[in-house]
Amino acid sequence: MTIITTVVGSYPTHSFKANGFNEKLSETLGLFDPYKQSIINSVEAFVKADIDIICDGQVREDMVKIFASKINGFRIEDNTAYVKGKITPAPHPISVKDFKLAFKTAKSLNPMFKLNAPLEDIFNHEAKGVKGILTGPTTLIHSSLIENFYSSKENAIYDIARALLVEAKELENNGACAIQIDEPFISTGAEDINVSKTAVEIISEELDIPVILHVCGDLKDVLGDLLDFNVDILDFEFSGMPQNIDYLKREWSSSRDKYIGIGCVNTKLDSIDEKEDVRSTVSSVKNIIKQDNIIIDPDCGMRTLSNELSEGKLNLLKEIKEEGL
Ligand SMILES: [Zn+2]
Repeated sequence: MTIITTVVGSYPTHSFKANGFNEKLSETLGLFDPYKQSIINSVEAFVKADIDIICDGQVREDMVKIFASKINGFRIEDNTAYVKGKITPAPHPISVKDFKLAFKTAKSLNPMFKLNAPLEDIFNHEAKGVKGILTGPTTLIHSSLIENFYSSKENAIYDIARALLVEAKELENNGACAIQIDEPFISTGAEDINVSKTAVEIISEELDIPVILHVCGDLKDVLGDLLDFNVDILDFEFSGMPQNIDYLKREWSSSRDKYIGIGCVNTKLDSIDEKEDVRSTVSSVKNIIKQDNIIIDPDCGMRTLSNELSEGKLNLLKEIKEEGL
């Protein structure tokens, strides 16, 4: 059995103030990036915890604004995203610069990081990779107010999926090992699941690298449908949502060949989890999916945790990877 580790995203962060002559000069010129140091800090924490598939830490703004502020057709007003016109791709890549910084930082700390690292090599512990993360089409549209152009959410969801595909391709071409699509809104039942599925597949079916779909929350009404989405890896919360284990048991069949990313560390728990609890969550899911290659990660949303707690929780993943179940 092989265990690999990943992170869902949103690592604890704060923006940094310009410090020293060069940074202050950059700030005056409008070139200082207050998030650059946060990305470096997140990546350092991931590499220290020996995470196999890392990301840039998703430290920039919130998951809606980072895309809605760049993709054509949106406008942000008073902290709310509005759809003001036809949604078309952003004129420039949105997250490629952060991806490159994350990769460069990781590679300098551990030479095992490779561009476009194949999943098979990662499972064999011969390589590590950096994934790109997109906020999903359903979540972006359901977090925005449509003011113009679209009479229904459905077509807006498809158009933003096409815009996100351009971003996903940029990340793939720049060396991402996988693309993760975050769709927290799917579990709320706010959208017809078939619309969400079509939108995710507009992205996933055009990519050559693995696609991870992360859906958080209680999956009672959607887990069975999610198993039919054309993606390689489904990532769910199981630690803070133990009922998801029962739903998986109900819906899983041995003919399934998808990987399940096992969220096994409780990010809402204000202390470091008991290792036996984490182990038991992973074992319960493993017993259902009966796979030899296991992907484990924290439940989503580490952003509000202290650095110390986050590091402690990531370290648990490292220990379980090394010790096995
Ligand atoms: Zn989530």
